[in-house]
Amino acid sequence: MKLRVLLLDIGGCEGCSIAVLRSLPTLQPNIDLHSQYLGNLDLNTKYDIAFIAGSICINDKEAIAKLKRVREISEIVIAFGSCASVGGITRFCRGGQEPRPEHRVFQTINSVIEVDYAIPGCPPAPQTVNAIVTSLIKGIGPFLKVFAALAKVKKLSGFDLLDDVVLTGLCVGCGACILSCPTDALQMIDRRPDLIVEKCIRCGTCYVRCPRATQILLTRYPSKVKVLARGV
Ligand code: SF4
Ligand code: SF4
Repeated sequence: MKLRVLLLDIGGCEGCSIAVLRSLPTLQPNIDLHSQYLGNLDLNTKYDIAFIAGSICINDKEAIAKLKRVREISEIVIAFGSCASVGGITRFCRGGQEPRPEHRVFQTINSVIEVDYAIPGCPPAPQTVNAIVTSLIKGIGPFLKVFAALAKVKKLSGFDLLDDVVLTGLCVGCGACILSCPTDALQMIDRRPDLIVEKCIRCGTCYVRCPRATQILLTRYPSKVKVLARGV
């Protein structure tokens, strides 16, 4: 039987939703995808996996109530993309903007509900969706531990990379962080990355790509890996 997968966009730029949709040619034999928004959300059926994109406005009580209901009806909840998992660009939101000026304060999904996995990225690659769904079905995958650890994190940026890896002397100068940055906010100076502060959108991608930083995550947030009770 196919997995019932919910793709819920609660207010992002749609880039993360498109990343999930782009994974469909590979995943479609195994999943039945339900792409929804808060306005048309079906809260009466159960889902095996819920991908949630976008961050949650904590001034919006109805949205918070629906998000809590999604947790109840979904076996595995994934905060997908930087806004949902670590805040990303919505960290800069100051509110008062049309069409919803009452929306002011945006937070990560794990500020409101427990999430099982978090995948930062602006947006994450479609291949990441394939990899995590396959891992959840088969009950394997070394990176599940990293995504489970990230589910405990509420912010992640180039500042954290510098603080935890570069300034502590753990950096090996591999350059993976620089290649992963979507805004060119990192540059190599004297064989170590440095941050152009005003370019950093707090997406956390550099931290996740850094082999040293992921070791820190696994040590700091040892987490149990949860897999689907049933395969397909
Ligand atoms: S430095 Fe780049 S990759 Fe790292 S958090 Fe900032 S924008 Fe994202
Ligand atoms: S990915 Fe990590 S180890 Fe590699 S250059 Fe960047 S900070 Fe250094």
